[in-house]
Amino acid sequence: MAEGIPVPVLPEPTRRPAAARVLDGMTFAGHRSMRDAGLQHVYGPVPSRRLGRSLGIDTVRPKTCNWNCVYCQLGRSAPIVNVRAEHVPRAQVVGEVEEALRRDGPGDIDWITFVASGETTLHTGLGWMIARVRKMTAIPVAVITNGSLLHDPEVRRDLMACDAVMPSLDAGSADLYRRINRPHPDLGFERHVGGLLAFRREFRGRLWVELMLIKGINDTEDALVDLRTLLDRIEPDETHLLAPTRSPVEPWVRPTNDEGVMRALAILGATARLVAPTEVTTALATSGSIIDAIVGIVTRHPMSQEQLAGVLPRWSSEHADEVLKKLLADPRVQVVRRHGVSFWCGADAPYPAQ
Ligand code: SF4
Repeated sequence: MAEGIPVPVLPEPTRRPAAARVLDGMTFAGHRSMRDAGLQHVYGPVPSRRLGRSLGIDTVRPKTCNWNCVYCQLGRSAPIVNVRAEHVPRAQVVGEVEEALRRDGPGDIDWITFVASGETTLHTGLGWMIARVRKMTAIPVAVITNGSLLHDPEVRRDLMACDAVMPSLDAGSADLYRRINRPHPDLGFERHVGGLLAFRREFRGRLWVELMLIKGINDTEDALVDLRTLLDRIEPDETHLLAPTRSPVEPWVRPTNDEGVMRALAILGATARLVAPTEVTTALATSGSIIDAIVGIVTRHPMSQEQLAGVLPRWSSEHADEVLKKLLADPRVQVVRRHGVSFWCGADAPYPAQ
């Protein structure tokens, strides 16, 4: 899942106090806010207002996804992969979690979050890994997913032991779902909705639906009314509103504006929460090359030139200009222009030209 991007925090248009409906933008999809030498699939803990300090676990290689969302920050899905498999070695993942927990204990980590550089539930060992993590620690476990495989009883079983599951729902109609999420041909709208409904019936933990608001696409009154109708059936505990401001794969994608956010909060009802901006990358733990560390981050979590220049002085004693010059010459990264902003991304991520 690609990350939720900060949108402006607005005055509260409904009865609930604004502060109660404002969360933060850290959903971790594609995030690697702290990178540890030696750990390939586990990163963090990273700060999140929703999940506190969260240890992230990436269950696939970038990018392995059965959707091809127009707002994805990891480039196009090429090819679209809808095969559950051992995408990364499960024993290695669990070993890395053990190592991270030895270093950071329950006092340092509030949540352990399974999230992928693609779709988390494509890993066949997800249930096994969740069970292992459960045995290791009492820290609560969350899974961020696009929800596309919730129609599969085995996937739903895999997720039952979680404390929170955060699936995507960006459209209330089949047409918009196809236009926004561009799923694998086997993954129709009815399947997606049916999976969410079935999961809600069975799951006793917290169900937090994530909704990416795209200007003029799903932030219109008609689209939001359709979404509200669906949400009333699904009955999530919360609906988290995000907007695609960071390197959306399709250049025409624009984040919703203040008006769109207010409309969404008003139409979607009391469970809707605005995901507020947060500093996405606050620290970097690296014992190796600063360039390697940055490449490790931007491959899963693109950063704007401004963001990178802002945090570099905290990461490296080298002058920021020197680091950026070296980065420019590195074949593992590319610069993608979106909304007039330059973003550093992994070189392998397929982005169409602006
Ligand atoms: S294509 Fe969609 S579901 Fe897949 S990683 Fe990107 S944003 Fe997430």
